[in-house]
Amino acid sequence: MNVRWCIGDKLIGAMAILVLFVTVGYYGATQGYLKNRFEDYFKAKTTEWFEIYYKEHNNSWEGIKEMKISDELVQRNLDQREIALLSPDGNILFFRGPDDPGSLIQQGKRNAVTINGTTVGTIYIDRWESTEDYLLKKYILDSMRTSSFRVPILTGIVALLLGVWLTRKLTQPLNRLIPAIQKIAAGELHIRVPVTTRDEFGKVTEALNHMAQQLFRTEEARKHLTADVAHELRTPLSIIQCHMEMIQEGGRDIPPETLLPMQDEVIRLSKLVDDLHQLTLAEAGKLQLDRSPTDLVPLLDRIIDMLKPEAEERHIDIVRSYPAQTLNAFVDPNRITQVFYNLLTNAMRYTSSGGRISIRITESSHDESHFTSVSIADTGVGIAAEQLPFLFDRFYRVEESRSRHTGGMGLGLAIAKEFVEAHRGFISVQSEVGRGTRFTVDLPCA
Ligand code: ATP
Ligand code: MG
Repeated sequence: MNVRWCIGDKLIGAMAILVLFVTVGYYGATQGYLKNRFEDYFKAKTTEWFEIYYKEHNNSWEGIKEMKISDELVQRNLDQREIALLSPDGNILFFRGPDDPGSLIQQGKRNAVTINGTTVGTIYIDRWESTEDYLLKKYILDSMRTSSFRVPILTGIVALLLGVWLTRKLTQPLNRLIPAIQKIAAGELHIRVPVTTRDEFGKVTEALNHMAQQLFRTEEARKHLTADVAHELRTPLSIIQCHMEMIQEGGRDIPPETLLPMQDEVIRLSKLVDDLHQLTLAEAGKLQLDRSPTDLVPLLDRIIDMLKPEAEERHIDIVRSYPAQTLNAFVDPNRITQVFYNLLTNAMRYTSSGGRISIRITESSHDESHFTSVSIADTGVGIAAEQLPFLFDRFYRVEESRSRHTGGMGLGLAIAKEFVEAHRGFISVQSEVGRGTRFTVDLPCA
C-alpha cells in the first residue's frame, strides 16, 4: 500500500472521529448542559425578586397580597406565569393564576426563599422563565442547535483539507528517502540525501547518509584490499615462477642457493596470509584475547634480546627507561608481543648504524582511566608529516620501492593499531624527517 494512503487514511480517520466526538460533545453541551444552566439562572432570578421584596419590607411579606399586577417590576418579572408564595407554616401569602393554588402547589416547580439561612417562604410556579426570558433562551438554544450541525460540517472540511496537507507534509521526506534507498540498494553508494529538519525524519536521513557512507568506505576498502593483496601476491609468485622456469630449462640438479630465494618468497607469502587473517579477525571484532595482568618489562626485554645481535652489529644503542615499581597492563601477552615486535623491528629497520632506540615505560591517564604507556623512539630517517595520517592503513609504506626490498608489506602497523584498540588502548606516532620517530602505545592498567 502507498505510504501516503497508509498515513493519510489513518490521519483523516482520526480527524473524523475527533469531529464526531466534538459534534456530540457540542450538541450535548448546548442542548443539555446549557438548558439546565438557563433553568438554574431563571430560577435564581425569580427567587431573588421575592428575596429583595422581603428585605425591602423590613424582613416581612407585608403588603405582598395587595401587590399591584400593574406594578412594572411584577409585570416584568412575573408576567403571565402562575405563581404562589406560601409561608413556612403553609399559608398562602400570594397567588396569581386562573385556577385555585392547589393544583399549582401539587404540579408546579418550587423553590425556597431563604434569607440569612432561614426559609421565609416557598415559591410555586408553572415555569421559571418569563416570556421574554423564554424567547431569549429559545433563540440562543435554536441558533446553537443549528450551529451544532454547521460547525461539524465546516470542521470536517477543514479537517479533511488539513489531513491531506499534513499527509503530504509527513510523507514528503519519505518520498525523498525512498528513491535514495533504492539507489543505495542498487549500488550507488555515493548518494546522500540533504538533511533539512532536526526531527525524526532528519535523524533517519542522517542515519541513512551515515549508512551509505559506511557502505561506501567498506566497499572502497574491499576494492583496495583486493587490489593490494593481488599486488602483494604478484611479486613473490613471479619470482617463484621465474626460478621454476630457470630450473626446468637447466634440467640439472637444483642447488640450494637457487631454492633459497624461492623459500624466502614462500615465507613472505605465508606471512602475508597470516597477517591478513589476523587483521580481518581484528577488524571484524572477532579477535580472541586471552588477557591477564602482564608486566611489560620482561615482555619488551625478550624482544630486545632477539634484536640485540643485529643492534650490536650495526652499533645501535638500545636505551631502556623502566619505572621503579611494576606496572601491570591488562593485556593478551602474545598479541602485545606482536605489536612491540613490529614497532621495534621497524625502529631497527629505519635507524641507521650508530643510532639509538629508546624504550620508556610510564603511567598515563585518559578520561579518569589509568594506562601503562610505552614509547619507542628512534633516531632514524623519520616520516614526513603528510604521510603520518596513512601510516596505520593496510599496505601503507612510506617509500614503496625502498620498503619492498628492505621492509615488509605494510601490514605491521595496521595490525598493531587493531590489536591495541581491541585492548581499548591507544597508539600514536610523532615523527620528524631526519630526526626520528616515536610511537606511543597506551594499554589499560591491570
Ligand atoms: P610489515 O610490518 O607488515 O612487515 P612494514 O614494516 O613495512 O611491513 P609497517 O610496520 O606497517 O609495515 O610500517 C609501515 C611503514 O611505515 C613502513 O613501511 C615504513 O615506511 C614506515 N615506518 C614504520 N615505522 C617507522 C620508523 N620507526 N621510522 C620510519 N619509518 C617507519
Ligand atoms: Mg613493520
